[in-house]
Amino acid sequence: MSDIPCIKTLTLVPTLDDLVTRDLDHDCEGFGPHHICVRVEAVADLPTRFGRFRIVAFYNNRDGKEHIALVHGDVLGREDVVTRLHSECLTGDALGSVRCDCRDQLAVALSRIAQEPCGILLYLRQEGRNIGLLNKIKAYSLQDHGLDTVDANLALGFRDDERDYAVAAHMIASLTVRSVRLLTNNPRKVEELVRYGIPVSDRIPHVIPANEYNRFYLETKAHRSGHLIDFEGKPHIPEQDDPVLVVPEG
Ligand SMILES: [Zn+2]
Ligand SMILES: [Zn+2]
Repeated sequence: MSDIPCIKTLTLVPTLDDLVTRDLDHDCEGFGPHHICVRVEAVADLPTRFGRFRIVAFYNNRDGKEHIALVHGDVLGREDVVTRLHSECLTGDALGSVRCDCRDQLAVALSRIAQEPCGILLYLRQEGRNIGLLNKIKAYSLQDHGLDTVDANLALGFRDDERDYAVAAHMIASLTVRSVRLLTNNPRKVEELVRYGIPVSDRIPHVIPANEYNRFYLETKAHRSGHLIDFEGKPHIPEQDDPVLVVPEG
């Protein structure tokens, strides 16, 4: 990552906790056209149902959004770190909505990373394809009233991908991860990270068998019961730009 201008100040430190002190005065020229700069503000333990993680909280200079990295194992200065980029979805992740499969994607990714020697999940605060919770609910409402996917998409607006990947790239650089194995089905995500100077040594397909996480999703889909596919047979807008590939049992 020597071609990243600000990398000079993102020095390797002994522990994750030391990132907070290192970043106290961090203020670089930023990543991407919007000059996104993030700094690590706090680090703590976060045992989860998927495994043991440490939670790293980032402050973002552009819009004050607080992004999170869940870190499993020792990633500082490492190469080939298994990495997943997840976009926030309050309705799916926290409330269990089945209008999307975000929660399944999150659960499967965390479970997978917890089984690796080390890995990270970036939880990016870009609710509703980065247009916010309120607009996402408005788009849901439009779909409820029969708008097709294209029109609802227009109502939603399109995600500002450049900004997303700039934040993610800086977060990876801040963690002093030297290269990532990206858990994704989306080659564009790989290209974008590389464009921002993050070496991607491998792409790991996010393909999962039917399991406890996605059983309900699959059943719902199979029965077309009006959740993921509405009564007119129209699919809902995928909220993650990188849908997981689900392989049903049998
Ligand atoms: Zn910076
Ligand atoms: Zn969602």
